Amino acid sequence: MAFDYDLFVIGGGSGGVRAARLAASEAGAKVALAEEYRMGGTCVIRGCVPKKLMVFASGYAGAMDDARAFGWEVAAGGFDWPLFRGKLDAELDRLEGIYRTNLQKAGVDIFDARATLADPHTVRLADGTEKTARHILVATGGRPFVPEFPGAEHVITSNEVFRFEALPKRVLIVGGGYIACEFACILNGLGVEVTQYYRGAQILRGFDEEARGHIAGAMCDNGIDLRVGTVVQRIDRVEEGLWVKSTDGHDAVYDEVLYATGRVPNTEGLGLEQAGVKLRQNGAVEVDAYSQTSVPSIYAVGDVTDRVNLTPVAIREGAAFVETVFKGNATRADHALVPGAVFTQPEFGTVGMTEEEASAHGPIEVYATAFRPMQTGFAGREDRVLMKLIVCARSRKVLGCHIVADHAGEMIQLAAIAIKMGATKEDFDRTVAVHPTMAEELVTLKAPVRTG
Ligand code: NDP
Repeated sequence: MAFDYDLFVIGGGSGGVRAARLAASEAGAKVALAEEYRMGGTCVIRGCVPKKLMVFASGYAGAMDDARAFGWEVAAGGFDWPLFRGKLDAELDRLEGIYRTNLQKAGVDIFDARATLADPHTVRLADGTEKTARHILVATGGRPFVPEFPGAEHVITSNEVFRFEALPKRVLIVGGGYIACEFACILNGLGVEVTQYYRGAQILRGFDEEARGHIAGAMCDNGIDLRVGTVVQRIDRVEEGLWVKSTDGHDAVYDEVLYATGRVPNTEGLGLEQAGVKLRQNGAVEVDAYSQTSVPSIYAVGDVTDRVNLTPVAIREGAAFVETVFKGNATRADHALVPGAVFTQPEFGTVGMTEEEASAHGPIEVYATAFRPMQTGFAGREDRVLMKLIVCARSRKVLGCHIVADHAGEMIQLAAIAIKMGATKEDFDRTVAVHPTMAEELVTLKAPVRTG
């Protein structure tokens, strides 16, 4: 049977765009891609990129305080949100343009329309047009999840933060994961009064406990009113804003309530089940190690599969899919030892096992230090940096590295190479320190602080 395309990609985010480009430019495939909103997906349009730009923007208040401590005469004028937002919008337009151009250069046909599956080899566009393809790649990503409760219609999600007309004065953030903690720090840095509710005992569940405690302490020291063990009961719109009633008896009025309570895969209404594609209980597309679904012609990559929901992982999954399906080189996306960063202030970089996970596997040594770094210490700040290595007592391999510090994301990227290569504690030790830096502590940790 002759198909219109070798590959039809649904979704123009990180995973879909990478797969489409590689299949077209490196494997010579005839490729089409449909995107219903803006090219670039969550990462570029309403995720990593605008978030990181906001992280930069919010860091300048502290930087100006530090500059004064270093002898500069600096007077902060207030933060001009409309100016920043205008520049942000222009930057996102520029990036979206690059994504589109790169697809076009690779020879990919772009359809700016919602696409659904009509059958295992047919995609139906919003206007009813049908296109057939030998392979279909579902890369539709995810979207914020907001639980049901009285007043849920009043809340916003991370999607709306970038669209604020004016910066709110008082914000309540609900959740204790990546997004909640990042926006709590960003908005706090921009001068917004931030309260954060988390239902559990400590934010950033799943990460190293010592690091979680360190970050939570720093967030509170920086002025965030973090309330753990707290759940919203109801929200009502009142004259002064949004009145929030909570389980800890702390009722207050906010200008905005931001829910960052997780994300769900975008699989609804795509025709997946009708085409025979199996979904997991949470709605994610079920795939094997090669990203193939239960229907042989249909593959899925990225957040829609809910494996490791990070842009670089979606990109790797997209590339592995092209290797496997279009280059005859069966390739599994590697989900082991994926490094990551949470862009809180202070930043958190992490790779490998937490102390808790590692000690459940076998005997370990924990090397850790917390200290006031030179730059902020000189400026009179109390901020402390945390550097931590988890070492297997038998093989001596470094199983995990956790850094809470300015630029921890940059540092963990490099440490992750060594750890991915199987570096031992002794490999770290025989590496000469770069002095004076914060990262040099990673190669000068002498005795374990604990064994387990
Ligand atoms: P997370 O899964 O990280 O966190 C969700 C948070 O919401 C948790 O604290 C969870 O609590 C809480 N929660 C869930 N349901 C409810 C509820 N019904 N009521 C109250 N609280 C609730 O999701 P995010 O939305 O923060 O981020 C989604 C994903 O996006 C991340 O997992 C990550 O993969 C990716 N991401 C990565 C970033 C990065 O790399 N820097 C930045 C932003 C996002 P509990 O812990 O008790 O379950």
